[in-house]
Amino acid sequence: MLKHSKNEIMNPYLIVQQQIEQAAAKLDIPKHVVEILKRPQRVLCVSFPVKMDDGSIRVFEGYRSQHIDAIGPTKGGIRFHPDVTQDEVTALAMWMTFKCGVVGLPYGGGKGGVVCDPNELSKREIERVSRGYIEAISQIIGPDKDIPAPDVYTNPTIMGWMMDTYSRIHHSFIPGVITGKPLILGGSQGRNEATAAGCVMTIIEAMKQLQMPLKGATVAIQGFGNAGRFAAKQLDALGCRIVAVSDSRGAIHDPKGLDLKRVEYLKDHETILQYGHQIEPDSLLELDVDVLIPAALENVITLENADRIQAKIIAEAANGPTTPAADQILFDKGIVVIPDILANAGGVTVSYFEWVQNLMNYYWSEEEVNQKLEDIMVRSYYEVWNLAEKYQTDLRTAAFMISILRMKEAMEARGWV
Ligand code: NAD
Repeated sequence: MLKHSKNEIMNPYLIVQQQIEQAAAKLDIPKHVVEILKRPQRVLCVSFPVKMDDGSIRVFEGYRSQHIDAIGPTKGGIRFHPDVTQDEVTALAMWMTFKCGVVGLPYGGGKGGVVCDPNELSKREIERVSRGYIEAISQIIGPDKDIPAPDVYTNPTIMGWMMDTYSRIHHSFIPGVITGKPLILGGSQGRNEATAAGCVMTIIEAMKQLQMPLKGATVAIQGFGNAGRFAAKQLDALGCRIVAVSDSRGAIHDPKGLDLKRVEYLKDHETILQYGHQIEPDSLLELDVDVLIPAALENVITLENADRIQAKIIAEAANGPTTPAADQILFDKGIVVIPDILANAGGVTVSYFEWVQNLMNYYWSEEEVNQKLEDIMVRSYYEVWNLAEKYQTDLRTAAFMISILRMKEAMEARGWV
């Protein structure tokens, strides 16, 4: 499906292909390598029946996409959302390859999704959907094949059910098949907060470089789930002023700073809108803030609103929040965009730590995990920044360049090209 707005490409699969071409054009890369990178190796479409609480049977559809396994098994989250499409899952798998490449993890990219609205399902129905999906894709996943993890509207509880289903199919305990699990089932310390933690680490480095003080810096966050909520908490603890947050129901804004504890309480018990200070959800992105964190879904910063963005730094906790056309406008305006494949790589990095711990059967403390994460995020941030300086380009293009070179090297070493 090709979606255009004002001649702008909005299909994430076409967007990632465009990003690959743009970065490859700056490198001396054979055309066939680019052609390999622009496609997924495998996409499995599945449908499976689920018994609903009222006794009826509903058929669900899902996908699992694996981009490239040149450098190791594929890895990436599973999304439960009504708008999941094959192209979206394929694009998200491709972004995972480049994300793993930026931070130097031995993985290619994978991604999965089930077309469903978890808000309309009971907890038991969500469990049956989770188990049905894993049964349906079980042939192509495994600790040395493809390792799923949580994404939008999936969480550690769901990962626990999925690990259980896979382990039962194989009559063995196989925690390394999936990451983001509860601690008791081999989850890692720090995994829940990792996406936000990595994002905050990159924001801290960007602010140092722009000589912006962290204390009192104003922050707006779109999305108040795993990525957005933990980012809010961590930045609040560092002395930043969280002035606006939103979720699927709406947005709130207080220039004096939100009382985060109250926002969290309302999120858990009622709705954040009970807080008052409601604003139009889209206007959150256009607030005059130091840092803007899109932490919900794709295509929220586009040709339509990029001109009006006032933030000095955009840290993409979400995958694919900015379209290529918007990217160009932000670059011309001098806004520093820390791209998704770097800014949210903390999640897959600690997922990698979880997988390593599962394979070793030996577990690290939270301090060890966070220190290892910080080493990787800070090193990767400066590798990307330095390459962007060298080529006078934006951070996204530089991040893609780093990964493309790694993939090319792996493909050559395996004799593929
Ligand atoms: P989540 O399900 O925990 O939270 C999603 C949040 O987005 C919820 O608060 C929801 O209300 C909100 N939301 C949905 N539609 C919205 C809208 N139109 N406007 C504003 N808010 C909206 O999901 P998550 O895991 O936090 O994922 C968020 C983003 O981060 C996704 O793009 C995901 O791919 C990316 N990401 C997540 C991880 C991870 O480890 N969870 C890792 C890397 C990237």
